[in-house]
Amino acid sequence: MKVAKFGGSSLADAGQLKKVKDIILEDYDRKYIVVSAPGKGLNNNHKVTDLLAMCHQLSDHELNFNEVYRIIEDVYKNIVNDLGLEIDIDTILAEVKEEITSGATYDFVISRGEFISAQVLASYIGYDFVDAKDLITFTNGVLDLEKSQENIKKILSNHDRAVIPGFYGEEDGNVVTFSRGGSDVTGSVIAAALDCQMYENFTDVSGFLVTDPRIVKNPCPISTITYKELRELSYMGANVLHEEAIFPLRDKNIPINIKNTNAPDLPGTLILSTCDIKNKNILTGITGKKDFTSITLEKVNMNSEKDFFRKLTTVFESNDISIEHMPSSIDSVSVLVADSFITPKLNKVLEELKIYLNVDSISWERDISLIAVVGRGMINEKGVSSRVFTALAKEGVNIKMISQGSSEINIIIGVETQDFEKAIHSIYREFYKED
Ligand code: ASP
Repeated sequence: MKVAKFGGSSLADAGQLKKVKDIILEDYDRKYIVVSAPGKGLNNNHKVTDLLAMCHQLSDHELNFNEVYRIIEDVYKNIVNDLGLEIDIDTILAEVKEEITSGATYDFVISRGEFISAQVLASYIGYDFVDAKDLITFTNGVLDLEKSQENIKKILSNHDRAVIPGFYGEEDGNVVTFSRGGSDVTGSVIAAALDCQMYENFTDVSGFLVTDPRIVKNPCPISTITYKELRELSYMGANVLHEEAIFPLRDKNIPINIKNTNAPDLPGTLILSTCDIKNKNILTGITGKKDFTSITLEKVNMNSEKDFFRKLTTVFESNDISIEHMPSSIDSVSVLVADSFITPKLNKVLEELKIYLNVDSISWERDISLIAVVGRGMINEKGVSSRVFTALAKEGVNIKMISQGSSEINIIIGVETQDFEKAIHSIYREFYKED
C-alpha cells in the first residue's frame, strides 16, 4: 500500500486534477492520498494559502476581504464546474467565508485550502474524505507523532481508500498548522503510521537535481539519495521536500519517491535509509547558502583553557544565535553565523566576546557563502577533496574555510560570496559533464 501526496501545483486547476486522477487510478496500491491547497496555475497567479492568509489579515483589521476571497472561490468553482462534480462547493465556500468573518484563528483560516481541496478530489475520484483534524494531533503546538499514529491507524482502518487534507491537525479542539509546505509532513506521518511500502510525493519537478539549475544549466537528476545525504543538502537550502517529512519515515525504513505529476513516468528521486548503489559520479549533490558572517577570535593557547569554548558558545546562546560552523586552530577559532541572526546584534556580541574571553584580537568578515559537497560515495574514497579543491583553485576561488565531518559524507567549504556561483559551477564540472 502506498500513500501519495500531491502538492499545490498538482491541484491548481481541472487539467492538473485529471492528471492526478490518472496517476492514482493507475496504481491499485495508491490508497491514501494527501493534498495541498491549490497552488499557482494557468489561471491563478496566487497560492490559495497565501490568499487565505490575506483574507484573515483583512478580516482581522475589520476590512472587507470579498475581493480576495472571490479569487479563491473562482479557483474551486472552476475546478468543480470543469470536472462536472456534484459536490456542493457553494455551501462549503460560504461556510469558510462565514468562519473567517466571525474571527476564526489564523491557523484555521489558512488550513481551509487543504480542507476544500481534499473534499473536491475525494468527490472526483470516489474516495472517502477524512479530515486531518481527526488524524494529526499537536501537543503544545508541536506534532504529537505517537498520538497521531494511533489516531491514523484507528480511523483509517475504517476507510479502504481516502483523501486527506495536508498541512494541519488539531490541539484541544483548535486547528494547528505545520510550517509552510507542511502537507509533506502530513503524508509522511500517515505513511509511517500505516507502515506503507512507499511514500510518494508528487510535485512539479522530477525529483532532486544534483545542483541548482539557476547556477548550472540542466544539472543531472539525483536518482537515489539517502536520508542522511538529504539532510546535509536540505540543511543547506534544497527545498523540494519539507525537512520534517524525513523523520517519521527514517526510523521505519520507508522509502520516499519524489515524482512529477506532469511527467509521472519518469522515475524521480528515491530517498532511502541506506543505499548500496554507488553513484558513478561519487558526489550526490552540491548546494550552498549565501549570507554568513565569520567572527575570528585569536588568543594564544586558547586550546588549553578548558572553559574557553563553553564561554564562547554561551555568548551566542544568550544572544539567541545559532552557530553554523566553528573551525578552529591552536590559537584561533572562527565562528560562522547566518547574517540574519548576527546583523542586528553584531556590536553587542563582539563586545561580550571581548569581555568574557579576554582574547588577543577579534575580527569579522561578511559576505561568506557556504558550499556543501555531499555524497555517500566519498566514504573511503581517496582523492575526492583533492579534486574539489583543485577545481576551485583552477577557477581562482579562494577557500576561506573547510570542514569535513567524520561521517565523510559531506565537505563544507566557505568562500567569498562573489565566488559562490563560480565555485559550485567548477565543482559540478569536475564531477559531472555539463549539458
Ligand atoms: N498550502 C500550504 C502552503 O502553501 C501547505 C502545503 O502546500 O504543503 O504552504
